[in-house]
Amino acid sequence: MRLSRSLIPTLKEVPAEAQIASHRLMLRAGLVRQMAAGIYAWLPAGLRVLNNIADIVREEQNAAGAQEVLMPTIQPASLWQESGRYEDYGKEMLRIKDRHERDLLYGPTNEEMITDIFRQSLRSYKELPQIAYHIQWKFRDEVRPRFGVMRGREFLMKDAYSFDLDYEGAVISYRKMMLSYMRTFQRLGVKAIPMVADTGPIGGDLSHEFIILAPTGESQVFYDAAFEDIDYSASNFNIANTDDLGRFYETMTTHYAATEEKHDTAAWDAVGADRRREGRGIEVGHIFYFGTKYTAAMNFSVVGPDGQKTFPEMGSYGIGISRMVGALIEASHDEAGIIWPDSVAPFAVGILNLKQGDAATDAMCEEVYGKLQAVALYDDRSERAGVKFADADLMGHPWQIIIGPRGAAAGRVELKRRATGEREELTLDEAMARVTESLSAKPA
Ligand code: ATP
Ligand code: MG
Repeated sequence: MRLSRSLIPTLKEVPAEAQIASHRLMLRAGLVRQMAAGIYAWLPAGLRVLNNIADIVREEQNAAGAQEVLMPTIQPASLWQESGRYEDYGKEMLRIKDRHERDLLYGPTNEEMITDIFRQSLRSYKELPQIAYHIQWKFRDEVRPRFGVMRGREFLMKDAYSFDLDYEGAVISYRKMMLSYMRTFQRLGVKAIPMVADTGPIGGDLSHEFIILAPTGESQVFYDAAFEDIDYSASNFNIANTDDLGRFYETMTTHYAATEEKHDTAAWDAVGADRRREGRGIEVGHIFYFGTKYTAAMNFSVVGPDGQKTFPEMGSYGIGISRMVGALIEASHDEAGIIWPDSVAPFAVGILNLKQGDAATDAMCEEVYGKLQAVALYDDRSERAGVKFADADLMGHPWQIIIGPRGAAAGRVELKRRATGEREELTLDEAMARVTESLSAKPA
């Protein structure tokens, strides 16, 4: 993209309404604009990040055997009356009436709807197990929307739902999703720790929250450093193998990890002093096993192996995709701006033309841009070099290719790595090779 023709409205001033770094930086880097309290429009650069995150989530869900579907945002109240949650959910639910006075709602989550879909389609235990997910906007009328996209009212979530014949099967699905989450977060370039959690209004017996470490997180967390050394890759755990899933789950649950609410000082003291880690965290995912709560309430049964009707066992699994954008920035920024992990950056490279209008400089920039168009943002504005440096750091491109008249005359460019601040003078070919190599590098 050419910055001079892009809707990427960067701001020099710090917006007064934003209290935390990610909110300030998302506004300043031109990623989003607020349309109403807790409701945001995603501008081109922000949308690219959101899509990059969604793509990684999608790939890892598919790799775990989950099937992508797309359910509507608007749901009939009748489904929620069946489960009993229509009354329970309270004011967070946005209730709507259509022109025929029928009660509808903007979905805050989809347990009822997915149960209805499976109820309409499945008859026999032979069709189980199944996992389905979608990536769809949710609405929750939060009392205090705040911190930008971190606690919005409209937000993008990946929610998956598993259906199994029995408890043993449901546990396998739960572990599969847990492993797929650890892989997802690793690819997103963040440390996330699974912690035993309360189940809240979704209900159920078994639940984990996934917490990203960041100094401005809402909750205090305690965990064993051993989590940082686990190899989640397919070569260590085959996600289709039940024994591997068992070994994975045991590895996760033997190490201590808890939020403030669940913190157990006796168990904490038993963790070696050199392995105790403490900090703030942001919840980016939450998984639940809740058995037959919805299938029984909504009378969804299949014929079991014994010929008897049986209610499938369910779990549900969420990742806050739009919250993740803010969380990644909280975990990775400095005074100058965002530092995007390679895997989600809106643009892998910023091309900085330090002297717009200088024939040799323009020509070299155009050549680089021509080759890297799909992944580059070319700063071709007639702005001072200082403004371009500041904006590139603010926007957080992993690489910057800096081209000025002196370098252009000598066939050389400067290559800057945003994360380390390292700058190197290279030939154009060397710089291109370096960038291309990092683009094709497969994440661990
Ligand atoms: P929280 O405890 O933060 O209110 P929750 O427990 O209500 O979240 P879940 O129902 O578990 O949320 O939803 C799954 C995921 O969706 C959460 O882990 C979070 O990442 C995301 N999420 C939930 N509420 C919001 C929101 N208001 N804005 C942005 N993301 C959200
Ligand atoms: Mg939660």
